[in-house]
Amino acid sequence: MTARKLDGQALAGLIRGRMAPQAAEFSRRYGRPPGLAIVLVGEHPASELYVRLKLKAGREAGFRADLERLPEGATLGDVLELVEKLNVSPHYDGILVQAPLPEAVGDGAMSRVFDALAPEKDVDGVTPSNVGHLVQGRPTFVPCTPLGILELLSSEGTTLAGQRACVVGRSEIVGKPIALLLLQRDATVTVCHSKTSDLAAACREADILVVAVGRAGLVRRSFVKPGATVIDVGTNTVTDPSIATMLFPEGHPRLSLFRERGSVLVGDVHPEVADVAEALTPVPGGVGPLTIAMLMRNTLRAARARVGADPTTGE
Ligand code: NDP
Repeated sequence: MTARKLDGQALAGLIRGRMAPQAAEFSRRYGRPPGLAIVLVGEHPASELYVRLKLKAGREAGFRADLERLPEGATLGDVLELVEKLNVSPHYDGILVQAPLPEAVGDGAMSRVFDALAPEKDVDGVTPSNVGHLVQGRPTFVPCTPLGILELLSSEGTTLAGQRACVVGRSEIVGKPIALLLLQRDATVTVCHSKTSDLAAACREADILVVAVGRAGLVRRSFVKPGATVIDVGTNTVTDPSIATMLFPEGHPRLSLFRERGSVLVGDVHPEVADVAEALTPVPGGVGPLTIAMLMRNTLRAARARVGADPTTGE
């Protein structure tokens, strides 16, 4: 079997295309575009790329999308002060603080920042009140990556009720929320993490396997039930030739690309999984573009809610 490619890029393009006229209608009616502020602290190369892509997508869809930068040496106080300023700014309906923060900001800094965000502008669903609503099954803002995964599964008509789902990774932003969302859709959900014994066996039970770990090629063919749907959230930049050759056979175009550029972007799921899965998201071009599209959707919803309109009009 060669797994069907779940084309997140194409679906994200459709969603963003549908959003542009809605953003234009908002601007016409309220005299300003929906506004998104992205906070980037320090110089994390992957974050720089993600933020650039988010700003570009926002601007292309007719949003006001601004970067608020703080230097590598910023303190937690600096970040909190900026968040407070954005919380009360009339220009911004949504605020996203790009993770991770530099280590020097201190232990637990990300949680302190999440606590400080105004829940009504929290378009990545990380504040305690938005997380609480999600846990209670009455979601307000849902984190963008899990929302994108659901959108993809729904567009594919994937049955969730009664299915066994396995989520590998228990982060606040991906693993925990996608596990809750699948549970709320009546899947039977197992959540795995770094201390799970016999990870392969747990994964092999799953009809729907979601992997969000950050380890290139962790999930091998033997982890996957034949016919499963596999969602690879991981984004790993491989620069080690031994990992590149573990992932791609001699003559594979992506190995050639690696040798040409010195790096290659891969997921957490080994490419050999395509031999057993029924459907698989590619990396790049799977979950990543949907995360960005969902950020736009959440920002538009936040903008509508702020002006007293129905947040989901026209969706
Ligand atoms: P975190 O880095 O916050 O957490 C990783 C999780 O993986 C932890 O729960 C950890 O377990 C678990 N883990 C680590 N090693 C193993 C192992 N050997 N076996 C099983 N579980 C393990 O994860 P994120 O959710 O922030 O990110 C995960 C990946 O997804 C990264 O590659 C990230 O870049 C990518 N990502 C992609 C997005 C996109 O839009 N495409 C968006 C967000 C993230 P424990 O809790 O025990 O430490």
